[in-house]
Amino acid sequence: MDGKIVGILGGGQLGRMLVEAAHRLNVKTVILESGTDAPAKQINAVGAHVDGSFKDYKSIAALAEKCDVLTVEIEHIDVDALIKAQKEHNVEVYPLPETIRLIQDKYTQKEHLIQHGIDVAESVAVESTEQALQEVGSKYGYPFMLKARTLAYDGRGNYVVKTESDIREALNFLKDRPLYAEKWCPFTKELSVMVVRTIEGEVFAYPTVETIHKRNICHLVYAPARINDTVQKKASLLAMNAVKSFPGCGIFGVEMFVLPDGELLVNEIAPRPHNSGHYTIDACVTSQFEAHIRAVVGLPMPKGFTSLTTTITNAIMLNVLGDDDVPNKELETCRRALETPNASVYLYGKSTRPQRKMGHINIVSSSMEDCQSRLDYIVGDSDLIPE
Ligand code: ATP
Ligand code: MG
Ligand code: MG
Repeated sequence: MDGKIVGILGGGQLGRMLVEAAHRLNVKTVILESGTDAPAKQINAVGAHVDGSFKDYKSIAALAEKCDVLTVEIEHIDVDALIKAQKEHNVEVYPLPETIRLIQDKYTQKEHLIQHGIDVAESVAVESTEQALQEVGSKYGYPFMLKARTLAYDGRGNYVVKTESDIREALNFLKDRPLYAEKWCPFTKELSVMVVRTIEGEVFAYPTVETIHKRNICHLVYAPARINDTVQKKASLLAMNAVKSFPGCGIFGVEMFVLPDGELLVNEIAPRPHNSGHYTIDACVTSQFEAHIRAVVGLPMPKGFTSLTTTITNAIMLNVLGDDDVPNKELETCRRALETPNASVYLYGKSTRPQRKMGHINIVSSSMEDCQSRLDYIVGDSDLIPE
């Protein structure tokens, strides 16, 4: 459509769904990921991809040579290598490398948000010593959250320090990683808002959704969130303000906590498509993936974008994770979804592993109750296939 070729650092499921959205618009994509079987490469036979690491200068440079714009489906890339490749090959990069750098360290991300007036949980950078954590315990009380500053995902860099006696184990769990400690947030709900930012600096928010985590991994998304309009709007404004603080363009996922008094705190921001935005493929006219592609190649956004991303449709997204005991058992859930009207199944082309994100299921309907009854059938809580 626009003639620009988009290089994507990372070839997982987010890259795969970016490729799908790009190809519908005739926007060509090239993937950088090790191996030839990555989810995003499987569905893109147009031209050669790059076999290598998004942490390696040579590989990023090889991608840059083939492309006009580079983007990411994961933030854990080598930013210095990306900047060097950008300069040498004169490519655009969105989100901006500086934004990726800020965000990939969750503590500097928090400092940045505070500087821009965005409310976040109180936190402090800490040394990996028992004494430092005891001091945090006396200041914040227990429990508090100990987090790895970098390379965190699916809660794997987090440790809940419930009492002083957990400190040693927490340090052992997160050994050799830069750390920060965060005050415990006794949230009543977790929310998320996808926000797309255009190169002109306009921001558009998708509906505020509710995320439910299981073992620290996103399990369900309810769109729109089951909260009153005031909180919905507040979340939307907070998310847009947060994204306005990052120059450049692209899609961002803003995770938030709702506190018992209704106050909202930003938990963290992802500078890319996000698991909580998968529902947009079926519930919104322009998905988070298409919005990102449009933003980074400079294609127009629909006029009145927010009204097109309908909140009249209700949606539930269920993540499909690899079963703990039986390989491929998760496909049974997918079969039930195939039997269910108004449900669509997305599989990512990965080999099964316990707790691995294998795919997701979107359910859409005019009412949330109806979405719920369809979900009940899909997860096996009911034997009645909804019509
Ligand atoms: P992601 O896969 O979303 O990138 P992550 O590894 O970066 O996850 P976080 O988002 O920081 O981890 O935390 C994972 C989950 O842990 C949150 O969604 C929330 O349920 C819980 N959590 C995080 N921080 C706190 C906190 N300060 N207080 C209470 N619960 C928290
Ligand atoms: Mg994270
Ligand atoms: Mg998170």
